[in-house]
Amino acid sequence: MNHSGGAATLPFFLLPWKKMNNGHKQRIAIDMDEVLADTLAQFLAAYNREFGENITKSDLAERKLAEIIPAERRERLRHYALTPGFFRDIPVMEGSRPVLAELRERYEVFIATAAMEFPSSFNEKYDWIKAHFPDFPNSHIVFCGDKCVIAADFLIDDSPRHFDRFAGQGFLYTAPHNRAESRYPRLNDWAEVRRQFL
Ligand SMILES: [Mg+2]
Repeated sequence: MNHSGGAATLPFFLLPWKKMNNGHKQRIAIDMDEVLADTLAQFLAAYNREFGENITKSDLAERKLAEIIPAERRERLRHYALTPGFFRDIPVMEGSRPVLAELRERYEVFIATAAMEFPSSFNEKYDWIKAHFPDFPNSHIVFCGDKCVIAADFLIDDSPRHFDRFAGQGFLYTAPHNRAESRYPRLNDWAEVRRQFL
């Protein structure tokens, strides 16, 4: 018997659960908007620029931007999303890049974005992934509607509706609009993603 230590010499029932999946890497599906991409920051910047305001994420409390602005301005948010360049220029969520790289060493990682709300965003979202995660494989990018179709062990998403019919374990990535949600384990930032999975 080998007593030299190290995970590889442990019997299977002592291996960390994270590494067990019949020898295969477990799969993590990761949402794009408001998880990898700071889409809310992009909306706030566009809105504040047009109306000369200075609304911040903390001003939103538990609401969406559309809920705190005058009703007659709501259509402008949709207009921003349909403006060429809007999705291409979204900033990367702080801390996501190095953690995603680490996750890919241990897990099979997919980027899953429910892009059907703005079909005109497809090309820009693809370009965005290639610009910020240049070695991320095309085979693991999923543009979808309902994420229930994704056969992953975990889904990290800011929209709890995607967990309703998802077969794996959902992790809610904190965004202002989901602060009151308590049904799912929560990850507040990418440092917490790292602690959870690595
Ligand atoms: Mg999202």
